[in-house]
Amino acid sequence: MKPNTKNWFRPAVLKMKGYTPGEQPTDLRTVKLNTNENPYGPSRVVQKAVAKLGDFRLRLYPEPTAHTLRKALSKHYGWPIEGILVGNGSDEILSMLFRASVGPGDLVQYPDLTYSLYPVLAEMSEARVKEVALDENLELPFEKFSLQARLTLWGHPNPPIGNCFDPKKMAAFCAKTKGLVLIDEAYVDFAKSHCLSLARKCPNMLVLRTMSKSFSLAGARLGYVFGHPEVISQLMKVKDSYNVNRITQGLALEALSPQGIREQKTKIKIIQSERERLTKALRELGFVVPNSQANFLLARWPLANSAESLYKNLKRKFILVRYFSHPRLKQALRVTVGTPEQNNRLLRELKGLLKRR
Ligand code: PMP
Repeated sequence: MKPNTKNWFRPAVLKMKGYTPGEQPTDLRTVKLNTNENPYGPSRVVQKAVAKLGDFRLRLYPEPTAHTLRKALSKHYGWPIEGILVGNGSDEILSMLFRASVGPGDLVQYPDLTYSLYPVLAEMSEARVKEVALDENLELPFEKFSLQARLTLWGHPNPPIGNCFDPKKMAAFCAKTKGLVLIDEAYVDFAKSHCLSLARKCPNMLVLRTMSKSFSLAGARLGYVFGHPEVISQLMKVKDSYNVNRITQGLALEALSPQGIREQKTKIKIIQSERERLTKALRELGFVVPNSQANFLLARWPLANSAESLYKNLKRKFILVRYFSHPRLKQALRVTVGTPEQNNRLLRELKGLLKRR
C-alpha cells in the first residue's frame, strides 16, 4: 500500500526538492575537488585523539552546551562564552537559526549566487524570499537589500565565487536593518579579513564558522556561531539537547590546541599559495576566474554555453569538480583547491580535454 504522505507532511515540505549535497564518491581513486574540503588531514594532535576514541567515555552523554569547547573557542577568538553556540556542522546552526527566527511569510534575503542551502531552508520555513542579483563585477548591490527583512544572509567569502563584500557596507546595512544578519564565514580562514570585530558593534549580526574547511574536520561536523549573548540564548532554546557528540567535542578541543592551530595555519598558507597558482594556470588555459579568497575557484569557460561536458569528462578521469545548473553558472566549474599534485593533475586533464575540442 502506498503511504499517504500527503496527509502526514506540511505542504511546504511536500513541494520541496530538498538540498542536493555534492557527490561523495567511495572510489578512492577520485581526486575530490568538488566540496571544498581541505586536501590535507587534520592536525596530528587530532589524529592522535582519534586513535584514543575509547577515552572519550562514549557511554556518557556529551556536555549539552559543549561548555568546555565553548570555553576554548571563547579564549581563542576573544568572544564571550555566552555569545557562542556550537552545532553539528554549521549547516545545523543555519537550520536552528531559521527554526528560531523565520516563520511563514517572513522575508529572508540573500544574493542570487550564494550557498545553495539558504533557499532550501527558506522554502522549508515558508518564508518570502528576495534574491538580490550580484552585479556584473560580482559585487553586492547593498542598496537593493530590504531593510525590513527578518533575516539577511551573506557569505564572507561568498560561494561559489569566493569574493568578499565590503565590510564597511555590511556594517552600515546592519546598523539600519530591522532584522538579523548572518555572515557565513565558513571559508574565512583563507581570506584577508573577517567580520568578528564588526559583530562586536552590531548586536543583530551573527558570524558563522566551521571546522570543516581550514581545520580539515568536515567529517567530524563542528560549526560555531558568534553573536550577542541575548541572541545566542534564543538560538540555544531550539537546539537538540546533545547536538554535538562527545567525539567531535573532543576532536575540536584538540584542533584548538597550540599545535592544532600551528598545523592549521601551515595548511592555510599552502592552500592560499596553491589557490593563486591554480587561478593563474586556469586563466592561461582560457578560463575566466574571478579572484577568490576561499579554498575554491569558480572557473568560467566562455567558449561554450555549458561547462557540463567538461565536468562529465573530468569525472570520467576520476576528477570530481562541482557543476551547477543555475542559469548564471552554467558555463562554470567550481574547483576546490587541492594539493599541488591534485591541482597539477586537474590542469593536465583540462589541457588534454580542451585540446581535443
Ligand atoms: N556555509 C557555507 C558557505 C558552506 O559552503 C558550507 C559547506 N557546504 C557550510 C556553511 C556548511 O559547512 P558545515 O556544515 O560542514 O560546517
